[in-house]
Amino acid sequence: MTERADLLVIGSGPGGAMTACLAAEAGRDVLIVEEGAFWPIDSAPSFSLAEMDQKYRNGGLNVTFGGTSITYLEGRCVGGGSEINAALYHRPLASTLAEWREQTDIEDFGPDSLTPHFEAVERDCEVNLLPYGNGPASALLQRGAGEMGWSTREIARFWSYEGEGPRAGLLTGRRSMSVTLIPRALAAGARLSPQTRVIRLLRNGRRITGAVVERGTAEGHRERVTIEARDVFVCAGAVQTPRLLRRSGFTHNVGNSLQLHPMIRITARFREDMNDTSWGVPTEQVDQFKPGLTLGCSYSSVPHLALWMGAELGNKRAQLRDWKRTGIFYVAVVGTGLGKIRDIPLVNEPLVRLPLTAADLARLGEGLLRLGQLLFAAGAEALSNPVEGGQPIRTAAELEALARALPQGKMAVSTIHLFSSVPMGQNEAVTAADSHGRVHGTDNLFVNDASLFPASPAVNPQGTVLAVARRNVLHWLG
Ligand SMILES: Cc1cc2nc3c(=O)[nH]c(=O)nc-3n(C[C@H](O)[C@H](O)[C@H](O)COP(=O)(O)OP(=O)(O)OC[C@H]3O[C@@H](n4cnc5c(N)ncnc54)[C@H](O)[C@@H]3O)c2cc1C
Repeated sequence: MTERADLLVIGSGPGGAMTACLAAEAGRDVLIVEEGAFWPIDSAPSFSLAEMDQKYRNGGLNVTFGGTSITYLEGRCVGGGSEINAALYHRPLASTLAEWREQTDIEDFGPDSLTPHFEAVERDCEVNLLPYGNGPASALLQRGAGEMGWSTREIARFWSYEGEGPRAGLLTGRRSMSVTLIPRALAAGARLSPQTRVIRLLRNGRRITGAVVERGTAEGHRERVTIEARDVFVCAGAVQTPRLLRRSGFTHNVGNSLQLHPMIRITARFREDMNDTSWGVPTEQVDQFKPGLTLGCSYSSVPHLALWMGAELGNKRAQLRDWKRTGIFYVAVVGTGLGKIRDIPLVNEPLVRLPLTAADLARLGEGLLRLGQLLFAAGAEALSNPVEGGQPIRTAAELEALARALPQGKMAVSTIHLFSSVPMGQNEAVTAADSHGRVHGTDNLFVNDASLFPASPAVNPQGTVLAVARRNVLHWLG
């Protein structure tokens, strides 16, 4: 079977949704293919186990290999990561973007050209601050930081707080791609094919002629289809985009430089109740140590608490009965290791090798020390220990000893921010795509997702993915 489109967009996360939306609104014939299924935004409660089953790749069980394995999470559904994330929004620092420009020689990447794209993203994807104060976990983070003399800030989100009753929208207001840019793309005539995985791109010299896909049928079978296209945008995310490019024969600087934000999460138990899940994700972050180091709190439902309580196994049931006194807190750093992404033959899974470097361990240790100090200052009785088999931390001395010598290979490290596996820029020696995402050596193959970042944005990345994707697709449209 063969189908046709002017523009084939592979992946419907923030990068793909922005690409498809603006191309369709400019009158192009657009086909979006997405490996995951279409699940309406309210098909499962936010941050629930049902949501993980529906919308996460492998239910969230993906790991990198290296001295320390890092669990990484990706969305696999219409809307990609935007359907499952906390939706925290930042513009990166101007100095970070200037460093990117220098590092890989990106044309037309100054503040004047980028600012309108961030402004459009903030408007079109509804970036908002909470209209009615912040919940108890955020207040606690503020209090602890205040005791330490550190600054905190409420982070705006891709979220709508409109609706009935007090605190409306806290758990239901996520403005993901499936409720913002994808409906716009469809209204402008784009076609969407969920449960359709691109196996490889088809090539004729410098031109890509289309792709071979495998699609789920209504009868539960899989069928192979060839899609012919004039232009192709690959927006499959920072792990899957380089996999697809490499499977299709594009290997120059592809999949050799994955970067991420390693995170350590711990639980902290307090004397009084501080956890109220009806507030959703706590949106306060300590910004005193940014851009290298971010401290914050996470959504702390009972299943999430059970996941991050670490070594307190014996006491878990008793601890969980007391869940309102316990919250999850995190340290996120800018990682320095570069990861390699390869396909494992005969298995539809990638092999991702990435070192957690000595510098990363030192930064995580510093972060853990500061986070622990803040939590004790806010009244914590005990902190969970992220090291395998480690005992709960109850004193400043125990905290310092832990932070000084975090051990390789024995800690629960995870990440939700991945990028930089197909870097962009004019310097072909270090990049895989040009300044606007066109893959070197091709006329009509583009990448437009988190893979393009030359390095970490040092903040939550979705806003930058959207702004850069907007810039690139408008350039393509002329
Ligand atoms: C749990 C979690 C929490 C997060 N929290 C935040 C946050 O608060 N703020 C923030 O800024 N960022 C956050 N992020 C990160 C953010 O979601 C990502 O940076 C963003 O989604 C990346 O967009 P993307 O378009 O590059 O790729 P993705 O969102 O990963 O989209 C890629 C899409 O392509 C599809 N795909 C992959 N391979 C194929 C193929 N071969 N064929 C067809 N389709 C394919 C995938 O199924 C997926 O839907 C979080 C991420 C997670 C997982």
